[in-house]
Amino acid sequence: MDPNCIFCKIVAGQIPCHKLYEDERVLAFLDVGPLSVGHALVIPKHHAVRLDELPEEDAAAVGAVLPRLGRAVSQATGINDYNVLQNNGEPAGQVVMHVHFHLIPKPDDAPRTGGPPGSPGSGLGIGWPAGKLEQDEAKALVEKITTAMG
Ligand code: 5GP
Ligand code: ZN
Repeated sequence: MDPNCIFCKIVAGQIPCHKLYEDERVLAFLDVGPLSVGHALVIPKHHAVRLDELPEEDAAAVGAVLPRLGRAVSQATGINDYNVLQNNGEPAGQVVMHVHFHLIPKPDDAPRTGGPPGSPGSGLGIGWPAGKLEQDEAKALVEKITTAMG
């Protein structure tokens, strides 16, 4: 527990939340700033800032909850589609420095441009300026990353 961390305070019950699910290692609750109706957050109770700092047991526990919560949010909102988003570091958009997964419903037929909750365009608005993976670059990356994986 980090006493300065807002999500640790929610886990400790010091700050209220609209709780959706809880077990020994995981807490899920509604996001106070929803991108769409049903926007939920799934967090490990263990304090870690980034996903790569999270113990595997906690990561596994969070991973086990995501599909179940996805089904429940879809059923409850009637919105079948959703994005799962997890930001690590400020440049990647992380604002709360406690690992969290966003589960963001995406209404049918919505453009990818975003819009307020309840509107057809609500949910995650994303740009996807894809490049092309070059063979040499891919081989070098595979070598480096598989070595780093150990
Ligand atoms: P990030 O940008 O760090 O991935 O997302 C942080 C999210 O946490 C935001 O969507 C924000 O609305 C949400 N959030 C921040 N403070 C609180 C809070 O006190 N309670 C709840 N339920 N959500 C919060
Ligand atoms: Zn924390």
